[in-house]
Amino acid sequence: MRKKIVAGNWKMNMDLPDGLKFAESLNEYFKAKPSKAEVILCTPFIHLAGVSQIVSTGRIACGAQNCASEPGGAYTGEVSPLMIRSTGAEYVIIGHSERRTYYHENDGLLNKKTRLALENGLKAIFCCGEVQKERESGIHREVVRKQLEDGLFNLSEVDFSKVVIAYEPVWAIGTGLTATPEQAQEMHKFIRDLVRERYGKDCAEELSILYGGSCKPSNAGEIFSKPDVDGGLIGGASLKKEDFCAIVEAF
Ligand code: PEP
Repeated sequence: MRKKIVAGNWKMNMDLPDGLKFAESLNEYFKAKPSKAEVILCTPFIHLAGVSQIVSTGRIACGAQNCASEPGGAYTGEVSPLMIRSTGAEYVIIGHSERRTYYHENDGLLNKKTRLALENGLKAIFCCGEVQKERESGIHREVVRKQLEDGLFNLSEVDFSKVVIAYEPVWAIGTGLTATPEQAQEMHKFIRDLVRERYGKDCAEELSILYGGSCKPSNAGEIFSKPDVDGGLIGGASLKKEDFCAIVEAF
């Protein structure tokens, strides 16, 4: 049975005291009320060590939202996968559409980051997804296929088993527009079929594929009920305890 996962992407929100307080309160909540899904908090770099320490007493995991593509050295402002792992964090989001758009991260660079993250003991949450124009012109499947082929499909089978894929239609991120459960299922099945072609049946069946894009308590249950949707990557709603907990409990 593949893992069900709900990951919160805090983006660039909360200062250190607020972030730690929030993590503490979620940690207490899920200690008292264990969830069926693995819960991951993907925080800004400054929170990683503190949040990892807090959640080490509970059932939540911690992850970063980005990492460097180089292992170390003179790269001012960068944070390497080794540094992230040393905080206790277990995951890193790679290729979020905001990184692709605002920081011009392309599939080649994302592949380099993914390989380095895995080499350093992190698990990667690799994001893919089309923009609105691409969906409207019917090329969304080809866009996602290329992102996966160029970003992931040169990994070995062993490395690929440490990857979670997040399908995030860019037109649904932070917009209030959500893919219908049918649209999500169709793309998730397409992704799983591509993985089956490349890595075989076992790998495809073990892969967790998360949906992201304006997921909220009112739509999470229906989206998560689809057979190829194994959870969610949650942005805005992960900053509100009530909403985030309700989404986790939608399983
Ligand atoms: C995200 O940032 O990954 C995301 C899905 O954001 P939101 O839930 O706010 O659309």
